[in-house]
Amino acid sequence: MDKYQLLKQYFGYDSFREGQEYLIDSILEGRDVLGIMPTGAGKSICYQLPALLMREAGAEDSGEMSEDAPCGHGADEKPGKMRKGAVTLVISPLISLMKDQVEGLNQAGIHAAYLNSSLTPGQYRKALFLAKEGRYPIIYVAPERLVASEFLDFAQNANIAMVAVDEAHCVSQWGQDFRPGYLKIINFIDTLPVRPVVAAFTATATKEVKEDIIDLLALQNPAMITTGFDRKNLYFGVQSVKDRYGAVKNYLECHPGDAGIIYCLTRKNVEEVCERLAGEGFPVTRYHAGLSDEERKGNQEDFIYDKKPVMVATNAFGMGIDKSNVRFVLHFGMPKNLESYYQEAGRAGRDGQPAECILLYSGKDVTTNQFFIENNQDNQELDAGLRQLVMERDRERLRKMTFYCFTNECLRDYILRYFGEYRENYCGNCSNCLSQFENTDVTEIAKSLVGCVESCRQRYGINVILDTVHGANTAKIRSYRMDENPFYGGCAKVPSPRLRQVLNHLLIHHYLAMTDDEYAVVKLTEKSEDILRGGEAVVMKLAKEQPHPAKGESRKSGRKKISYGASGTGSGSGELSPAQEALFERLRTLRTEIARGEKVPPYIIFSDRTLVHMCMLKPGTKAEMLKVSGVGEYKYEKYGERFLDCIRKSGSVEA
Ligand code: ADP
Ligand code: ZN
Repeated sequence: MDKYQLLKQYFGYDSFREGQEYLIDSILEGRDVLGIMPTGAGKSICYQLPALLMREAGAEDSGEMSEDAPCGHGADEKPGKMRKGAVTLVISPLISLMKDQVEGLNQAGIHAAYLNSSLTPGQYRKALFLAKEGRYPIIYVAPERLVASEFLDFAQNANIAMVAVDEAHCVSQWGQDFRPGYLKIINFIDTLPVRPVVAAFTATATKEVKEDIIDLLALQNPAMITTGFDRKNLYFGVQSVKDRYGAVKNYLECHPGDAGIIYCLTRKNVEEVCERLAGEGFPVTRYHAGLSDEERKGNQEDFIYDKKPVMVATNAFGMGIDKSNVRFVLHFGMPKNLESYYQEAGRAGRDGQPAECILLYSGKDVTTNQFFIENNQDNQELDAGLRQLVMERDRERLRKMTFYCFTNECLRDYILRYFGEYRENYCGNCSNCLSQFENTDVTEIAKSLVGCVESCRQRYGINVILDTVHGANTAKIRSYRMDENPFYGGCAKVPSPRLRQVLNHLLIHHYLAMTDDEYAVVKLTEKSEDILRGGEAVVMKLAKEQPHPAKGESRKSGRKKISYGASGTGSGSGELSPAQEALFERLRTLRTEIARGEKVPPYIIFSDRTLVHMCMLKPGTKAEMLKVSGVGEYKYEKYGERFLDCIRKSGSVEA
């Protein structure tokens, strides 16, 4: 079988996505590769498919197709080519990820196993025994196992054609996910009788991390591809609302049955929000570091298996969650930096279907995060100088995060620029691109703010400046004698949020600046003069006042707006009709039933994307069903008839 046939047969897809084919071909030529692709881009197939092809090539070469072929190989053989009983080892940092991947492969009819600490000694021995027998073309293994003698014994005698390193950035100490075990990969590869192809994959694209991966995994002249950081299927939104709980509740009401995550800044928030939502009958569960191991594990499973599809959690939740049908990520509070935000929001829409990431902002979030930064336990071991530096960097990152909540430019563009990618500044799929703005002259407000900073001799922080121009009568203002400042009360009629917006605009555009120390004092810049005396007009794009959406009405989104095509944005976009929506619900229910029976997460049976495609094509026969993206031969045999049945029945209901 060639690669296209395999792609269709096992995975049910007709075409490759950006970057996949190049990496697969390079691996098959025996070349190392480095794939830098965002979450959901389809990295797994880049090593799973060649793993199968190498296996087949080897079996054909030796004149047998048996999976249990003995593994003999000579030292002069080229790796990756025509080797018998070829095995691919996939090194992965997280037990839950491995489990998910292996379940997915088994569902697609591919033998795979994992070796990690979640297995009992008996299970481990059995898996290793079957591995030695040559049963598995693909074996997932935790980095720590690479030094265990039993495993090394197996590896020495197996025909390891490829070592695929998933989440390869874990080898680098630059990122937050450094795993010491990853440094041992290179030693392990060196002990093998024949050097396998080494294929590394990550979604982290910074220069330092990339260089570390190449060096520390000793990639040899790797074929590289970077498909960029953008997640086109994600909608980004920011809402500054008074009643955040109300906004969350309204969102859930508008998206019944959808799986999603609600991130909160504190454990207390998690408990409050979860309890209230549960009290109102929403299918929610919770997760934070203060819960018992048992509760965390149980709640996580409830979420993954769609028993409780809405998870309320702190940032402790999510590492290793491979759930592909997360349709929304709401932030009940602003995270401390854009790295965290993009990582957390990025857990939505891994299946490539439209999903929404909405940040509900409140001014208090800045203070909460400042507190986290000042009291970060991780920094306690650093010497004073370094600690200062780290804190300054964190404050700067918090500021950029805050500006995200205030910018009127394209949100996606803002994020991508932060990560060093430059695009057009209109994406058409974020709350700013979709809002109507009008140009508003805010010169007078700007003059008051800058004037206030100047006249107080650049000694105070944001809140004092805002309170002063707003004319607040507080003890603090009086004690600083800011009530005697010439700008005191100069903008008494301007609502506070608007004042803050203008001040942020001045900071973003460098008419004012802030010091990096803990006092975060507002300072003048070279450009301040332009406003104070240069007569420069300050014009801001401000959202037009929009009537509040009525209850039950929200942005149309989610699976309704489906995009279809190999890249996820290609041709065939359209919305599901109400009848198709109803069919989707029935198919989703059927999927849940099957998943319960098989004890696997629903998205492992078929992705949301596949269900949507079924609703569009409405297959009536096996041949038609096999045209649905994500339906391979093996899955058809297992589930095809039941889904066909469901589609036929709903056809007759409609008629
Ligand atoms: P990553 O590891 O890059 O985050 P995955 O490998 O988990 O992404 O793939 C994300 C989703 O995209 C999975 O549901 C996968 O089956 C699907 N996918 C991968 N390749 C293709 C393709 N060529 N066509 C359609 N869907 C694909
Ligand atoms: Zn946009």
